[in-house]
Amino acid sequence: MKSLNKNIIRRSLKSVWHPCSQMKHYNQDNLIPIKRGKGVWLYDFDEKKYLDATSSWWVNLFGHNNPLIKAKIKKQIDLLEHSMIAGLTHEPVIELSEELSRLTKLGHCFYGSDGANAIEIAIKMSTHYWRQNKKQQKNKLVYLRKSYHGETLGALSVTSVPIFKESYKNLLKKHIQVDSPDWRDHSENETQEEFEKKKLDELRCVFEKKHNSISAMIIEPLVQCAGGMAMHSKNYLHGVARLCKEFEIHLIADEVAVGFGRTGSMFAYQQAKISPDFLCLSKGLTGGYLPLSAVLTTKKVYRTFYHDRIAYGFLHSHSYTGNPLACAAALATLSIFKKQKIIQSNRQKTKMINRLLSDLKSFPVKNFRNQGMIWAFEVDHKIDPLKIQKFCLQHGLLIRPIGSTFYLMPPYCIKKTEAKFMINVLLRGIENAM
Ligand SMILES: *Cc1c(COP(=O)(O)O)cnc(C)c1O
Repeated sequence: MKSLNKNIIRRSLKSVWHPCSQMKHYNQDNLIPIKRGKGVWLYDFDEKKYLDATSSWWVNLFGHNNPLIKAKIKKQIDLLEHSMIAGLTHEPVIELSEELSRLTKLGHCFYGSDGANAIEIAIKMSTHYWRQNKKQQKNKLVYLRKSYHGETLGALSVTSVPIFKESYKNLLKKHIQVDSPDWRDHSENETQEEFEKKKLDELRCVFEKKHNSISAMIIEPLVQCAGGMAMHSKNYLHGVARLCKEFEIHLIADEVAVGFGRTGSMFAYQQAKISPDFLCLSKGLTGGYLPLSAVLTTKKVYRTFYHDRIAYGFLHSHSYTGNPLACAAALATLSIFKKQKIIQSNRQKTKMINRLLSDLKSFPVKNFRNQGMIWAFEVDHKIDPLKIQKFCLQHGLLIRPIGSTFYLMPPYCIKKTEAKFMINVLLRGIENAM
């Protein structure tokens, strides 16, 4: 049978500059043209199917081709596809803002188009806030080693992943990096409590010395995802929030990746029983249908911008701010959480997948860790991760290791047979590379 894939791949490699890629490394075997999707599966042009074990960069919470989200977008598209929301407003954006406020107890929802936008917005709001409170010297951010907050210049300036940052360092403002509470870095005979207390003490020292120049601390609550699925406890997060309060520093919770159920609760920060000053949401917000991000904040911040003078307002904008179709997709996503009791049903899925992964014990892997619907581990340094990835691809499993870190962040709709398939292929892939 003639392959339909081949021609598509050839055209793509000629015309598309693919993200996060070395174009020279692409060939006929490692670029997959996707024709359609359904549930956890993506299908290429030759009808070969692949299980999307990363939820397409963590956005497709309920997999592909979800009937409820589709229906809601279709309904909206007949009413209003887009109108600006400076000077105008519409129902989807109002309803979504109300709904997000209800879920987070924060409010005054400000919209962007993707995760990096949300980070830019939070950084600008925070420093602008201090400026308006006559503390313009508070304009530095504190961020963690291993953090990832996006790749526009502001977001990249608080991202620590060297390979993303190095080439642009002349363009970036220098902020303050502190050590990551990544539990893998603990020394022998150290409990997690002791290890994290040490990290919090270091943070306190930085705050004590520099709080007059610090606007905000930005953190990915519970899991630093793109930095290698580095996990910390809710106690650490709680400690950070306490220090921020004590030293009058804003806390920006970047839940672009971990929000919407990924860590086992609707939002990761809720597990630490804290309330951030800014909450950044994107990725899963529309269930993978349309680009949208939101930043929620406190009354206190909002009031600082509420003023007679235009220049005191938050004048930031993006062309597609609050796009009605994207808001409709987000509303459908939130209604699925409610209707299908996703948080509760995910608890069962977490247990089920943990049981299936217990076979990993006899494999050359280390640092197995799990938080909600995220699983990660490292393969032994003698094993080539790319060889595993290639095997998985050949056998219908899409995974994207970060160095030697393998992780699973499957869509929440994954069924037991599908989870078995996912884990079985992955284990055989490791075996094959040994
Ligand atoms: C992906 C991600 C971002 C950036 O989002 P984009 O939509 O890719 O710009 C920011 N923060 C975190 C934690 C992310 O995982």
